[in-house]
Amino acid sequence: MKIHEYQAKQILAEFGVAVPRGGVAHTPLEARAVAEKLGTSPIVLKAQIHAGGRGKAGGIRLAHSPEEVESLARQMMGKKLVTPQTGPEGKEVKRVLVEEGVSILRELYLGMVIDRSRSRPVVMASTEGGVEIEEVAAKAPEKILKEWVDPAVGLQPFQARKLAYRLQLTPQQAKSAIDLILKLYDVFEAKDCSLAEINPLVITTDNRVIALDAKLNFDDNALYRHGDIAQLRDLDEEDPLEVEANKYRLNYIKLNGTVGCMVNGAGLAMATMDIIQLAGASPANFLDVGGGASAEMIENAFRILISDPNVKAVLINIFGGILRCDRLATGVVEAMSKLDVKVPVVIRMEGTNVEEGKRILKESGFNFIIADGMKDAAEKVVAVAK
Ligand code: GDP
Ligand code: MN
Repeated sequence: MKIHEYQAKQILAEFGVAVPRGGVAHTPLEARAVAEKLGTSPIVLKAQIHAGGRGKAGGIRLAHSPEEVESLARQMMGKKLVTPQTGPEGKEVKRVLVEEGVSILRELYLGMVIDRSRSRPVVMASTEGGVEIEEVAAKAPEKILKEWVDPAVGLQPFQARKLAYRLQLTPQQAKSAIDLILKLYDVFEAKDCSLAEINPLVITTDNRVIALDAKLNFDDNALYRHGDIAQLRDLDEEDPLEVEANKYRLNYIKLNGTVGCMVNGAGLAMATMDIIQLAGASPANFLDVGGGASAEMIENAFRILISDPNVKAVLINIFGGILRCDRLATGVVEAMSKLDVKVPVVIRMEGTNVEEGKRILKESGFNFIIADGMKDAAEKVVAVAK
């Protein structure tokens, strides 16, 4: 799960990480009020969307008076901001963060993620902060400093010191940076983050070390023990079909292809996506209805799947174990009768009561395309999707 920058900064501040003074605003007048309360100049306005790259896209603006803050907020809010991370459709700006402007000496990078290949967190730092860090990682990987953390003992002070000294800081700056790195790791661990990133981490002209930007992502599987964080979810920023699927506890992830798939079991779903690709098309989604899906779940899943306008054909690939094939067939037929399905539907099923399932499909009056085996199913669905 992702949250906004202003929310991330609140959490960082609770853990003692230095962030600029500021506040969030939902209207231009609120933005002006925050600026008046800050009483400083310049003031920075930052569009709050769940995507980076705002700086270059006009989502970060500098103002010199509360009046200017209000008028810039008026220009930004309600408009779509398009950055390399939002996709071409952009994201509507509904909130802005109004902060004291900071005078920057250096822009550094600091980030933490789980390194799956080593099964432990990795702390990354770089002197090349501010710009796209992905570019640095690709062109000059040696400029990304790394320290791997033993999760049993946590990030050790000597590791934070090592990073700080390699960032070429003065002793005073290094002291603040070490403290900040250790505190960010506290956040990362305490909140079950999958990512904690500060880009840029700045050294100010008066030698302070502060988090100018902040990004925290959380492990969804740990959200059950962080009620406070789950509440920060902003559904406006998420894919509406994924939000809908979440309500029915369906594992649905929207993708960019044309073949909608409904599969039971994550492993079979992955294999189905692979074989669609092999047959010459791309999956429109990942959807695992689970082992014990009810007819109702199948109906909901089917509805969500065909609501995606990119879907040109549907492949239902079910191994009937706990979910019997006849029950699946009944669910699909019920869904077809209630929904206006305009795309061809290919069904491959195998397992318990498969013959009964096939009979239900054949006698339903709907024009299902029945396939034998995965390869046949993939070829048939790709042919009708084209
Ligand atoms: P992002 O582009 O979405 O990652 O947004 P950031 O919060 O990282 O801001 C992008 C850039 O705007 C930073 O790298 C800074 O160069 C600049 N910026 C942001 N806040 C300030 C500020 O308070 N003072 C100054 N001088 N520049 C700022
Ligand atoms: Mn940034």
